[in-house]
Amino acid sequence: MGLFHCPMGAAFYDDDDCIDCGMCSATTQEEMVAASKKIRAYLRSHTVDKGVIQKIAVSGKGGVGKSSVVTLVANALVGKGYRVLVLDTDESNPGLYRMFGFNAEPKPLLTLLSRFSPGEAEANTEWITRDEIAIEDIPAEYILSRDGLKFLAVGKIEDPFQGCACSIADITRELMGKLVIGENEVVLVDLEAGIESFGRGIERSVDTVLMVVEPSFESISLAGKIGYMAEGMGISRVRAVLNKVPSEKVRQRMVEELDQKGVQSIGTIYYDPELSEAGFEGTALGNSRALEDVKGIIESLLNGTG
Ligand code: SF4
Repeated sequence: MGLFHCPMGAAFYDDDDCIDCGMCSATTQEEMVAASKKIRAYLRSHTVDKGVIQKIAVSGKGGVGKSSVVTLVANALVGKGYRVLVLDTDESNPGLYRMFGFNAEPKPLLTLLSRFSPGEAEANTEWITRDEIAIEDIPAEYILSRDGLKFLAVGKIEDPFQGCACSIADITRELMGKLVIGENEVVLVDLEAGIESFGRGIERSVDTVLMVVEPSFESISLAGKIGYMAEGMGISRVRAVLNKVPSEKVRQRMVEELDQKGVQSIGTIYYDPELSEAGFEGTALGNSRALEDVKGIIESLLNGTG
């Protein structure tokens, strides 16, 4: 199978996890699409909503305010007494740590794969090879902490020819799959913009996907695609968070458009100039109207009404 990663996690064809989808032996686009549909149908028919919210992925088109929503959701969960681990996997977004009030980034997990570390002790990789990883198992050098919140970054592509985002996806998928979440703990993943992460199967182990949607044709169209991909991966809770909404009239239109695409909306963050200013300045998000909106969304998510 070479470097091919089985989307079902099978180590080889006919392994226990193999569903005979044909993806690994596909030689044409048609066979690939047919295999993908088979996987989607299998996962949809085997989706079980365990009623827990432990691993949330936040997705959306570039520029919709995804990072702001990640920050607000994390702050709202911490405010409710949850211990939150934020996992920054968006290799193109440089400033998420600043929105949480940290002055510097943590050591990126990508250094676990580093082939070039002159003068540095070899990275401890034992912990990531375990079958199960608790948040406490992650070495402190990779984590920024403040009351109730931990921040972890997979890494960024900074230079030309540095490599592709596949290694970022591999680490993210590995870690997300193995993370064991305790009571009152939530992992919140800031995904890269778009749908590529779904093609790489990063979200396989999440139980909830929040799609951030702004009032634009492109954003709403992409939400339809993300919903299709996420549900096809067996994720039972896929919801749209309407962001930067200027009026009730626009909110209603967005809900209708999303509904036509089979996307359920969970709540609205109305346009908040404070949020735009914080995003522009790269400063921490404090109490704002948007945070109040997000608290309502979190309530709906946690009590199962949204
Ligand atoms: S047939 Fe499908 S499920 Fe089986 S190993 Fe190949 S890709 Fe994985």
